[in-house]
Amino acid sequence: MSDLSSQSLVFHVPRQTVDQSLQFFKQQGERGHEGVALWPGKLLAEVCEIGPAVIPRQITGPRMYQIPADESFRIIKSTAKQNLVIPIQIHSHPASAYHSEADDEYAFLQHLNAISIVVPCFGHFDPDEFLEHAVFYRLRGPDLWELMALSEIKRCFAFSEGTP
Ligand SMILES: [Zn+2]
Repeated sequence: MSDLSSQSLVFHVPRQTVDQSLQFFKQQGERGHEGVALWPGKLLAEVCEIGPAVIPRQITGPRMYQIPADESFRIIKSTAKQNLVIPIQIHSHPASAYHSEADDEYAFLQHLNAISIVVPCFGHFDPDEFLEHAVFYRLRGPDLWELMALSEIKRCFAFSEGTP
């Protein structure tokens, strides 16, 4: 029985989903703004097959992003309709990557073991070095976003070539 909140769930992420997200962050970076994307997927036994990134309608600034409530509602409805789940969110920072207090407080995802990825420098780095630059946080309890160790990231993620 697969469970979105399971800590042992393995995420298969197509390379194109990563590229697509970084592309959007770079585009946002051209005007000095952060950006956010969501990675929905299909939940199978022990595995979540991530599909194309979803770029929500968003309000952004140099140090903030926000998904309006009606847009959040629309996305939740539309993913549920397609039998998809959203285990992962990803957003960009102008410089260093970390989970800020606002990131903790206003995270789109709120389920246990949700994953929030933060990328530095508006996504300007070699996508082949995604794991070296991006930081991964996991929601371990109410309001408790913890940095994931590389060993856990490598256990939970399989990045592949090809299209979602
Ligand atoms: Zn942030």
